[in-house]
Amino acid sequence: METLQVGRAKLTWLSGGVNFLDGGAMFGVVPKPLWGKKYPYNEKNQIELRTDPILIELDGKHFLIDSGLGNGKLTEKQIRNFGALEQSFIDESLRELGLTTDDIDAVLMTHLHFDHASGLTNWEDEKLVPTFRNATVYTSQVEWDEMRKPNIRSINTYWEDNWKPVQEKVQTFENEIKIADGLKMIHTGGHSDGHAIVLFEDGVDSFLHMADIMPTHAHQNVLWVLAYDDYPVTSVFQKEMWMEKGYGKESWYTFYHDAYYRAIKYNGKGEVIDKLSREQYDYDK
Ligand SMILES: [Zn+2]
Repeated sequence: METLQVGRAKLTWLSGGVNFLDGGAMFGVVPKPLWGKKYPYNEKNQIELRTDPILIELDGKHFLIDSGLGNGKLTEKQIRNFGALEQSFIDESLRELGLTTDDIDAVLMTHLHFDHASGLTNWEDEKLVPTFRNATVYTSQVEWDEMRKPNIRSINTYWEDNWKPVQEKVQTFENEIKIADGLKMIHTGGHSDGHAIVLFEDGVDSFLHMADIMPTHAHQNVLWVLAYDDYPVTSVFQKEMWMEKGYGKESWYTFYHDAYYRAIKYNGKGEVIDKLSREQYDYDK
């Protein structure tokens, strides 16, 4: 498991599953000859996308950014359609760190699409229960409202199985919320109406988790947004603003979906000055 120390915060990438999605859909209007140079694809034009939650250890607390694909939450058809070759190993990842799901104090949900929220609940005696029994689940109010009342497009990704069992644990916010000293979530919209990012600052050290506004390192260009985005122009404007801020501070940018890089740091010109690669996962193990 890869780790990154950013000021007081220690980040660890857990094993939350993998998806293979159409490359075109992940790069919106960008033609394949361009995106194909930035991110590897297979013979079906699919690209590998991790769904790996990031554990943040900060001041004795344990926070998680998003929750992975979960286990036993997808039907055979969904597994096929989403190319979900592997589901979550969150228990195992935490155990390697001497932790259990009970040690998680809060889950910071950037949004509640199935590939981020399925790990919030799991099956116990044929009943769905919260995976993180002691955790507060943070999400924007807009996201929470849409999750419970999806429209005809978003109903495909906002599943009752992922919200009903955790509704008592949810804490919502409007524009932003402070989670701990230096750590906050900020509502952006764009990818989904209620999408939020995570920001941490400790003196000169900082990281920005842009979630699905910048799902991989290949999405650095502010105009490269997903066909999945409900409000792509909002994504572009938000990304433009947050890239400028992050570049200026030489912030780390962290990724949930990237199969190749866990985090990248850019200078004021947007050039890569530091990076954390992913150790390639062995699917046969
Ligand atoms: Zn996603």
